[in-house]
Amino acid sequence: MLQQNAASGLKIAIVGAGPAGFYAAEALAAACPDCEITLIERLPTPYGLIRSGVAPDHQTTKSIQNTFERIARLDNIRFVGNVEIGGDVSLDELRRFYDGVVLACGAPLDAPLGIPGDNLPEVYGAAQFVGWYNGHPDFAELNPRLDGGGVVVIGNGNVAIDIARVLSKSPDELANSDIAHHALQRLSVADLSDVHIVGRRGPVEAKFTTAELQELGELQTTVALADAAELPETIGEEFSLRDRRLKNKNLECFKAFAQADSMSRARRLRFQFNARPVQVLGDDRVEAVRFERTRVVGEAVEGTGEIFEIPCSLVVYAIGYRPSPMLGVNLRGTDNRLQSDAGRVAPGLYVVGWLKRGPSGKIGTNRIDGEEIAKKIIAEVDASGRTGFSGLEKLFQERSLRWTDFDDWKAIEAAEVAAALMGAPRRKFVRVDHMLEVCRKIPATPA
Ligand code: NAP
Repeated sequence: MLQQNAASGLKIAIVGAGPAGFYAAEALAAACPDCEITLIERLPTPYGLIRSGVAPDHQTTKSIQNTFERIARLDNIRFVGNVEIGGDVSLDELRRFYDGVVLACGAPLDAPLGIPGDNLPEVYGAAQFVGWYNGHPDFAELNPRLDGGGVVVIGNGNVAIDIARVLSKSPDELANSDIAHHALQRLSVADLSDVHIVGRRGPVEAKFTTAELQELGELQTTVALADAAELPETIGEEFSLRDRRLKNKNLECFKAFAQADSMSRARRLRFQFNARPVQVLGDDRVEAVRFERTRVVGEAVEGTGEIFEIPCSLVVYAIGYRPSPMLGVNLRGTDNRLQSDAGRVAPGLYVVGWLKRGPSGKIGTNRIDGEEIAKKIIAEVDASGRTGFSGLEKLFQERSLRWTDFDDWKAIEAAEVAAALMGAPRRKFVRVDHMLEVCRKIPATPA
């Protein structure tokens, strides 16, 4: 009870309006109903990876934004978009206005591939490529060439599968997605024959979930293939019963892919295992990826010395993400998470989500993070008479910053819904200036 009183009237800012930010806001609002919570986002639009990371053809997953809208509309929560902390406003400035600041800005950059040739044109990281087809303003100009032959997708996680699936779908299959219009147009005329998805470990170690694999067996114009010689008969006894059950479901999918007729569809999606990339080949643009065969020894991946190449005109690597260094706070050296003591970075400074845990887990994992950090903040931080949003807003005015509120977002959303092509839920704006024009009630058409 004493703690509740001390927390009464707390001013808390949350940096990042993706799942981690929303769940932290919800938990804080529930734990401290008379707190003032400001949820700050770099883009004019909320929802982070729900809008720009979750695959555009996974609309059921995206429906979580209805929950986030309910959170944004709570009395003591204010959404503030189009403000970059670490750019427009420094983290130190923000901390002067608020009793507590929670960093929920995720891991928006690609982990580097780090092999010769990885800087050739048509080699993209997943953050860039997924951002491009999801209409993230930072990547709208990416302009990848999808004009022939093979694509190599490196990585054996669900992001790699999302990318391979989007590249493998026909325009009809994407019609009821919210893929960016520029990406739909480009994919409609793409001339891709083979999408290779390559993992450095085996099928048993792959991080795919079964539902994602099963979807690949149902594509209209692409056949999913695996090589029976790369698949074990069964899952070894070294795994727990639960893991064996899960891995066995994946193995069943791969076995079905190994039986499929490679000529049954126009395009092929080929799983290839135990191969690590060693070089991207090409002069002016990518022509192939050179791989070394591997074996898994315990936790380690060892090269066998056997080399092979996969010809391709596009490479996308989905091998994990890293945080942006913008905030000027110390990242843990080895795995690029922010150093924290169970979420506490410094007095009054906290972290949640991928920035705390690294880029893993489901959307719902962030709810647990949010609840933990809310408890910690209520226990540790006292209200100290800081201005909260009123002080921040004065700074915005001094700097002529155009920030967006939740009504602005709803105006952007309404314009996107109104502009949607038949069957699609929305047609996204991909430029910030176009989004802001809608907020000023000046008509604009999504690109
Ligand atoms: P992930 O699941 O960690 O997979 C990363 C993959 O990259 C692994 O196969 C990893 O291999 C490989 N890798 C890492 N470094 C590499 C290198 N230098 N060379 C070659 N391969 C390398 O990460 P993610 O796919 O980015 O997904 C992030 C999180 O989002 C995960 O929790 C994922 O489940 C979640 N997610 C879920 C969905 C969904 O539920 N539909 C969709 C998208 C994302 P090793 O195993 O050998 O390290």
